[in-house]
Amino acid sequence: MPAAVIARCSFCAKPNTEVETMVGGPGVFICDGCVRLCVSVIEGKPSDAPMIAPWEHDLPLEQVLQNLAPVSAATTQVQENLAAWVGKARSLGATWSQVGEALGMSRQSAWERFA
Ligand SMILES: [Zn+2]
Repeated sequence: MPAAVIARCSFCAKPNTEVETMVGGPGVFICDGCVRLCVSVIEGKPSDAPMIAPWEHDLPLEQVLQNLAPVSAATTQVQENLAAWVGKARSLGATWSQVGEALGMSRQSAWERFA
């Protein structure tokens, strides 16, 4: 039986079945290939380089448009991941009030969003 796709790398969108290692964070994932790329970027970055948001770089419209689908896919995965964690909390007996409090929303809002 082929391995199940549990998550996709939030950076390159490869599924866990196509990478050697996947590291999970709060709703996000990164594969070993992207970690290696990040290390090379960090090592090559001047120590005094200012950090700016990716969308603040001077980019051509075509590249900006190409970024929309991957950002949307990552957002969908985060939303699905949150729903799975809420489902886990509910399966362990959490009330909608507890879920809402953990998320900083009302019981009603939590129920409407996740029930
Ligand atoms: Zn990746």
